[in-house]
Amino acid sequence: MHPPSIQKLIDLFSKFPTVGPRTAARFVFYLMGKSQEEIEELTKSILELKEKVKICPFCFNSFEGESKLCPICSNPSRDKTLLCIVEKEIDLEAIEKIKKYRGLYFILGGTVSTFKKGDIEKLRIKELVKRIKERAEVQEIIIAVNPTAEGKATALYLERALKPFNKKITRLGRGLPVGGELEYADEETLSSAIEGRK
Ligand SMILES: [Zn+2]
Repeated sequence: MHPPSIQKLIDLFSKFPTVGPRTAARFVFYLMGKSQEEIEELTKSILELKEKVKICPFCFNSFEGESKLCPICSNPSRDKTLLCIVEKEIDLEAIEKIKKYRGLYFILGGTVSTFKKGDIEKLRIKELVKRIKERAEVQEIIIAVNPTAEGKATALYLERALKPFNKKITRLGRGLPVGGELEYADEETLSSAIEGRK
């Protein structure tokens, strides 16, 4: 058994995505080898995450700065008739990187594999519906979920939930590897998936 201070950190790191207790223990022993300054820099950066980083009240993207909305939502040259729904912030980043999409985003917060109430409640469906009601200028809603089984189920749910709004609803075109994730798609594949949406 480790001393309590070490064990506590291992337990905390073990909660990180993809980190198990063994990796967590490696992190802790790595940190023990660091200088006081390095540890202070790390803890300061973690604190700043909460102090400086804001969540955009429209799309749920994270950003820093004085403006109320994130740089994408507050950019007047973005096409406000397009709304692209992604699962996670990292998917938004992947689409932004290819510079082919000039509309707005909405980060759903995850996917569902079933339409059970508990599962659906994990998604920002209420917020999404509210955005679509508030923004009459939205003409096309692009469902850009990952091409996984959960992504497909989520897309199906979204299509049903958004049908009453009478907007054009599109999905990414073919070509994305089945079971893959947008964040790992190469730029060319992702570009053609966005341009080939239907
Ligand atoms: Zn935003």
